Formats: sequence, structure tokens, C-alpha cells
Amino acid sequence: LTPDRGKSRTADLQPPQDVIWIARKLREAGHAAWAVGGAVRDVLAGLEPGDWDLTTSAPPSDVRRIFRRTVPIGIEHGTVGVIARSGRMYEVTTFRRDVETFGRRARVVFADSLEEDLDRRDFTMNAVAWNPLTRELRDPHGGVTDLAAGVLRTVGDAERRFEEDRLRVLRAIRFAGAFQLRIEESTWTAIVASSDRLDDLSAERIREELRKVLVGQGDPSRSLHLYAESGVLRSLYPELDACRGVPIAGEEEDVWSFLVRCAASAPRGHYRVRMAAFLHGVGRGAVPERGDYGLSAARAGDTQDDPSSPASALAARSGALARNLLRRLRSSNADTDHITHLITQHDPIPSPSSTDAEIRRWVRRIGSDYVNDIFRLLIAVARVREGDEDVRRDLLALHRRTRDVLASRPALAVADLAIGGADLGRLGIPPGPRYREILDTLLERVLDDPTLNSPAFLLELVREIVSPEASTSHPPPETDERLS
Ligand code: ATP
Ligand code: MG
Repeated sequence: LTPDRGKSRTADLQPPQDVIWIARKLREAGHAAWAVGGAVRDVLAGLEPGDWDLTTSAPPSDVRRIFRRTVPIGIEHGTVGVIARSGRMYEVTTFRRDVETFGRRARVVFADSLEEDLDRRDFTMNAVAWNPLTRELRDPHGGVTDLAAGVLRTVGDAERRFEEDRLRVLRAIRFAGAFQLRIEESTWTAIVASSDRLDDLSAERIREELRKVLVGQGDPSRSLHLYAESGVLRSLYPELDACRGVPIAGEEEDVWSFLVRCAASAPRGHYRVRMAAFLHGVGRGAVPERGDYGLSAARAGDTQDDPSSPASALAARSGALARNLLRRLRSSNADTDHITHLITQHDPIPSPSSTDAEIRRWVRRIGSDYVNDIFRLLIAVARVREGDEDVRRDLLALHRRTRDVLASRPALAVADLAIGGADLGRLGIPPGPRYREILDTLLERVLDDPTLNSPAFLLELVREIVSPEASTSHPPPETDERLS
């Protein structure tokens, strides 16, 4: 960054060639074009930039004429997607200003100047424009200085800006965490005052913000603690707020701080694992006098996890609360089921002395698709419990053994057996619920010893099971005992 030369400062933010190309085409048509928002901020902060967005004096109809390949992303908001020579798409948005911004339906009109466009942006560091052709920086709100000083500040009056759009409360907290910023005092006061007025926000926007905190730039811990300190946690995630101040036996930290560290300890690239780590002990906060948080409803509606599966009581309670929370956020069914399943099944797990058969039965219970994520979750949690070096070593050993046990692709379900219903039919057994019982019995034997999974042996076993003396009206439940 070159020092101030009068009013105009320049910098080389080294954008992709595409950005320069787009700006040049717009200038040739007589229009101004500036890079603005996240990418400019990221580069100024010394980080890898995300998407480069441009703002221009050209109305959308002109932008669509100037470029051969465009996509009408949000024409009513002035946004046109321009496909550049590399094939990448860039958002080009006409200068805007907000009118009637309050509440959900901000009405936007096109503006005449870049300055007006910058005025409507949320934080000073997000309101810096950079000209890709002249390299000039436009920073009417002091965003560069704030960023250098590590300060997050709204553009204009904080209270008013949060009233206009409460999503900015969550964005502020996310940016403060991602960029390790101190939140300027009046901005913080307005955040706290807004924390119980977030009802207008859609579940999708709330969820997206939490997702970006968990797997976006930087360590999620600071943003999560700011959720708690501002009152946002209490109003959006009461079941997590209930974990604050709940002691963990023999530890100094409370359940809430522990869960935050677990989230941060899980691998960043795995949203579902991070979310599961964050929520895996939320049931500890659900003491009756603090409220139910949908626990009974979540339990009643819980169909994904087999109620007979031996999850620990705490894992089951945490899973029920997590499912309720994820549904409230309108998470996809796939995410909700996967995360909830990781939580309910993370405990208990096989011990180091378990037999191969016990490991196969465990994998059958949790599902082989979940094995890797369960270990990611367990190892993240063990890493947080610093004293648990032994636990971690045991987990790594168990993971290795599980992989070895699965390497030979043992049968874990009735569908994996070497014979099926058709074979039972050929033996003259009339179709009916008996089929399921017979196949389950075979599977139990094969889980004990995978080498038994051959048609010859299984057919022999079936003959024994259905032989006259075995098929009395009340067959003993442990059929296989009589075979050994
Ligand atoms: P990220 O992409 O990492 O979430 P970003 O700052 O790029 O961060 P976007 O949602 O992509 O966020 O928005 C781009 C720019 O639009 C922002 O930098 C900001 O200038 C402006 N902006 C986005 N959302 C708002 C909002 N709710 N209120 C005011 N300005 C906003
Ligand atoms: Mg962005």
C-alpha cells in the first residue's frame, strides 16, 4: 500500500486477469467499474480472496449488451453474472442505494455514484472500493484504517444499521471472529441490543451464518463466544445457551466452552463433523428447570435412529436436541440425519479389547458409511480432553482395526448374505415373516465368523433351522446355540 497522496491512494491488489478485462470492457463503453466487498477486504487483510465482485455505473441492460456471455442472477437488484474469458463468472452490480430498508424487504434503487453505493454497505472494511485499471482505492468510511487497527465498525450509525437489517448482527460476529477484530464500542452495544430482535431473520440465513462461522475463514471459537456474550446464543440457540455455566466433573471449564473447543478441533473441511462435535454434548445443558427446548417433541419424532440401538442416554438426549435445532434451521434432511446419527452413535464405542465380531456388530449398528466421520468426531473430542492421550491412542488403534476388519468386506447386513429369500423358497419354505427371522439368524452367525458366508454352509444351516424338531410352535430364541 502506498502512503496517502492527497486524497487518492493506490494499491495493487493483484486481481485475476478477468477482473481487469471486465473493468476495461466497461470503461470502453463509457462506464466506471470498481472491485468492492469481500475480495478487496480479504486482500487488504492479507488473506486469500474469495469471489471478486464488481460494481459499476452501467445499468444491467448495458452490462448484458457489453458482454457476450451473461447470466441474469438478480436483475431486479442490478446484478448480472458476467462469464469472463477464463469461463469463470463474476457478479457485476449496478451502483445502488437503499430506500425503505427497514425489515426484510429492502427496496433498492440504482444510484448515481460509487459513494452512495459504499454508504449502504454494512461495515467499513466491506465498504472499500478499488479500481482495477487505475489502482485507486476509494475508502470514504476509513475501512483500511479500521482493518489495519483490527476494528470492526458499522458504516454510519450502528443502531440504525442493525435495525435496517438484523442479519448484520450475525455478519459482524462472524467477521470479528474470522479476522480477529475488536468490535467498536457503539457497534457492540447495538449488537447486544439487537440480540433478542432476530425473529425476522429466516432460518436459512441464520443457518448459513452459523455454517460460515463453523467452516469459514479462521478459528470458529471467537465468533461462537461472541454469540454467547452478545445474547445471540440465548435467543437463537437456547439449548446451547443452557450449557453455559454447567460444570464438567473434574474440569475447570463449563460444557459450553468445551463444546466450542470440540467444534474448533474437528477438521475444517467437514461441516457435518464440526456441527456434530459442537452439538454432541448439548444434552448436558437440558436440565429440566432450564427448559425442555423441544426435547420431548424431538424424541417423539425421532425416527432415524433405531430406538433399540444402545446409544448412551446422554448421546440420545444430545441427538434429540440436535435434531430439533437442525430442523428449526431448516437444514437438509441429509445433513440433519447425518449429524444427528453421528451424535447418537458416538457413544458407546468398542473397547480396545473388543473382538473382531464386536467390531463388526458395532459397524453394523452405526452403518459403514459413518465410520470415518465417527472417528473424526471422536478424535476431535479426545484432542480437546488433553488428559486423554491414552483415549486418543486407543481410538487410532480402533480405527486401524476397524479398517482391517472391513477390508475383507464382511457381511454386515442381510443383503450381504450369500443366500437370500429366493433360496429359501427353493428349499420349500413358504414366504412370510419367517424369512426375515431365518436370515437374521444367519447374519448373526456370519457376523461371528465371516468365513461361514458361503451358499453351501448357509443352506445347510437353514435346513437345520427348519428341520422338524427345530420348528416346534415355540422355537427357542437362540437358534444358533443348538447348532453349535
Ligand atoms: P463473505 O462472502 O465471506 O460472506 P462478503 O463481505 O463478500 O463476505 P457477501 O455476502 O458476499 O459478503 O457480500 C458482498 C458485499 O456486499 C459485502 O462485502 C458488503 O459490502 C455488502 N453486503 C453484503 N451483505 C450486506 C448486508 N446485509 N448489509 C449491507 N451490506 C451488505
Ligand atoms: Mg462474498
